[in-house]
Amino acid sequence: MLRIDHLGIAVSDLGQARGFYELLGMEAGPEEIIEHEQVRTVMIPAGESRIELLEPTSPDSVIGRFIDRRGEGIHHVALHVDDIADVFAEMKCAGMRLVSDELKIGAGGHLYFFVHPSSTGGVLVEICQNADADVPA
Ligand code: ZN
Repeated sequence: MLRIDHLGIAVSDLGQARGFYELLGMEAGPEEIIEHEQVRTVMIPAGESRIELLEPTSPDSVIGRFIDRRGEGIHHVALHVDDIADVFAEMKCAGMRLVSDELKIGAGGHLYFFVHPSSTGGVLVEICQNADADVPA
């Protein structure tokens, strides 16, 4: 199903940031470290979508540099699709500027890739598909 999967928010203190959402009664999932992205992350379900908090594990990481340049805040918008390989090929064909040359595997085994803000109206867009996308949610 095409929907907003999550909003990725860069934070410098994951514990502090999740506290805000927990005040609202939202329950954060388990914290995970994504080694190749150098982030500690937690997903907080919000209806059909989620809030993804991203804390850098290194100042040299993508998120670390983002916070350095622009401060904490929204880093990307993630759209969920059911046929990510097709979408990836279509985007390439259409000349969209993709951040990576291949699909990547993220937290929980989901597949994803990023489209550069210069192709999307100024927002970094993550296209993603759950590992279990064949099972209707
Ligand atoms: Zn994300």
